Amino acid sequence: MSDMAMGKVVIITAPSGSGKTTMVKRLLAASDKLEFSISACTRQPRAGEVHGKDYYFFDEAHFKQLIGEDAFVEWEMVYTGKYYGTLKSEMQRIWDKGHYPLVDIDVMGALVVKDKFPGQCLTVFIEAPSIEELRRRLVARGTETEQTLEERVNKAVHELTVAPQFDRIIINDNLERASAELLQVVEKFLEG
Ligand code: 5GP
Repeated sequence: MSDMAMGKVVIITAPSGSGKTTMVKRLLAASDKLEFSISACTRQPRAGEVHGKDYYFFDEAHFKQLIGEDAFVEWEMVYTGKYYGTLKSEMQRIWDKGHYPLVDIDVMGALVVKDKFPGQCLTVFIEAPSIEELRRRLVARGTETEQTLEERVNKAVHELTVAPQFDRIIINDNLERASAELLQVVEKFLEG
């Protein structure tokens, strides 16, 4: 990473269905220093998602070309056949503006980014109150088939076992309370 001018990084991760996306949106609205690091991915955009805002939506050939060019800080096949990755150019774009990247990625990716930028990262793990509640939230969201729902729930069960490797664990039992806790933790890190 010696080619990158580096600053602080906030990494937020959670099993799918923990309510992370809503909490991240609130955090971004409350902090003018943080900027969302837009990941690249190969899944199809969901209704309302925009290329260059929610993700850089690439086809697999382009994504693999970027892997070959060493363009990623980390990349991973997060779900079967679906690649996701954090672009070096994206983090640099944010640092160049004097902002801090907010990296919203899956649990394994979060650990890789943390290792690549030692001493610069705050890592936060957001947890649903229980696996039953997480499953209920995923069903309510209505974006999953029976198969992808099971895949996400199974992945969440595994991810909970690595939660202790993060700097902070925040239980999203109540959105208001959990969002306030997240803002407080992040502000303290950015000030320090
Ligand atoms: P979704 O398909 O629901 O948008 O995201 C699925 C998972 O991929 C989420 O856990 C999300 O945080 C993760 N993800 C998003 N961007 C990246 C990335 O750049 N790298 C990795 N490893 N995971 C990512």
